[in-house]
Amino acid sequence: MSEKGIVHLVGAGPGDLGLVTFRAKELISQADVLVYDYLVHPELVGWCKPGCEVVYVGKKAGFHSVPQEEIEALLVRHAKAGKRVVRLKGGDPFVFGRGGEEARALAKDGIRFEVVPGVTAALAAGAYAGIPLTHRNTSSSLIILTGHEDPKKHELQIDWRAYGALKNATLAIYMGMGHLRFILSELRAGGLAASTPAAVVQWASLGRQRSVAGTVADLADKVEAAKLAAPAIIFVGEVVSHHEEIDWFEHLPLFGRRVAITRTRDQNSELRDKLEILGAEVLEIPLINITKDVAKEPLVEILTELGTYDWIVFTSANGVRFFFEDFLKGFPDIRALGMLRFACVGAATAREIRKYHIRVECMPDTATGESLADALIATGSLDSARVIVVTGNLNRDTLVRKLEAARAIVDRLPLYKTQKVDLTDHPVADDYRQKGADAILFASSSAAQSYHEHAVHLALTGEAKKPLFGSIGPHTTETMTELGMKPDFEAAKPSLDALVEALVGKLAHG
Ligand code: SAH
Repeated sequence: MSEKGIVHLVGAGPGDLGLVTFRAKELISQADVLVYDYLVHPELVGWCKPGCEVVYVGKKAGFHSVPQEEIEALLVRHAKAGKRVVRLKGGDPFVFGRGGEEARALAKDGIRFEVVPGVTAALAAGAYAGIPLTHRNTSSSLIILTGHEDPKKHELQIDWRAYGALKNATLAIYMGMGHLRFILSELRAGGLAASTPAAVVQWASLGRQRSVAGTVADLADKVEAAKLAAPAIIFVGEVVSHHEEIDWFEHLPLFGRRVAITRTRDQNSELRDKLEILGAEVLEIPLINITKDVAKEPLVEILTELGTYDWIVFTSANGVRFFFEDFLKGFPDIRALGMLRFACVGAATAREIRKYHIRVECMPDTATGESLADALIATGSLDSARVIVVTGNLNRDTLVRKLEAARAIVDRLPLYKTQKVDLTDHPVADDYRQKGADAILFASSSAAQSYHEHAVHLALTGEAKKPLFGSIGPHTTETMTELGMKPDFEAAKPSLDALVEALVGKLAHG
């Protein structure tokens, strides 16, 4: 057995990315092999390090899932080869996730393993449907049950009548949609009052969540009429009566909407957050990958003469991160920066700079290289000033040219390279191709350009929803129109908030 090989059985939560634990995210980013299946959010795969082997073992339209023994053998094999394996499972690995079986197989083979809990579906369904799972005076216990969706499986039979006789309990039933009518009638036969509140919550925590509430007597009809199906949790108990009053998630303005955003220069977490807080399901299509790629010579030259520069200019948060990594290697003291003044574009870039307790002296309202140049020129400090512009392999020609035209002496400092992500088999791209989205937002010209370059791999299938195109401002709109991607709506002013506002307005009226 290799010392290094280990399998982490990790809960991925109910679907929403924000409900994944820190530990899970950390392990995914360190994994050599990632094994995942159905009900795991496709974007989690994007957290893997480059070169990580990704194995999908779940059901895909038309294909059967990989048999359990094969999955177990796969985990054992990779661990024996010294790999760090992450076995991701929806919800919690030990709640109807066959995590126990996998752990046993590993233990039997003497493989090191770790189990990381996840938010199980019942907890998410309760929270996101406004159904408290316990409640003073009405429910003092929570019972997690399986409804045996697949009658062919040989599993323990549940004595539903015995559960129907319980007092003050909340039942949370997994995998029960195939037998909903039967389960409810058995509970009643066991003594549960017909008026007991009951509900079904499908796709809990996701933008496509749907819930239906009623009583034990009428729930099956209501669910049938609303066409709710798996994956869903069935709740039975007095606690369901709170649903109507505290159901918050399904009332959000972008609830039920799928919005695609593109990931280019920096992580798009700001835009994602703004959309998610309004209830949207966000699909972040990774178009560009940024890796550190330092041009050694200019770096050494610039760092040794740091004291002679007036301004340093950043156009991405990655640039800031990479710069400080190298700067701090050379200088143990932040004061080696001297009186260097900081300029940047983008809120994310500014945030990264402020982490070092450094003031951003120049930042334009509009996040483009051109406006940054204009803002710098407006400071009136450029004549004969020495300026460092931190760049990637895609240069900032317009920015540099404009600064030079204002008589600045500009030195480029290339610290990273930007590469096109291969979307051929990418799970997020696949999700987009299959299902499309209600809208796709472009927060910059380069994002639109990049999307266009990837067009072959982002072509929608026949059934997919054709998204509305949203643009952050006139500049982006111009580029989009030139590329034949004329926007359906544009932000009133070029900011992320205005872009989101335009989207909400468009979807509300369109
Ligand atoms: N280990 C998982 C459960 C896997 S069994 C967990 O801890 O959540 C699969 C069942 O989980 C589904 O049939 C459904 O009953 C439930 N489920 C999983 N994700 C769900 C979701 N987002 N919303 C509602 N039910 C979900």
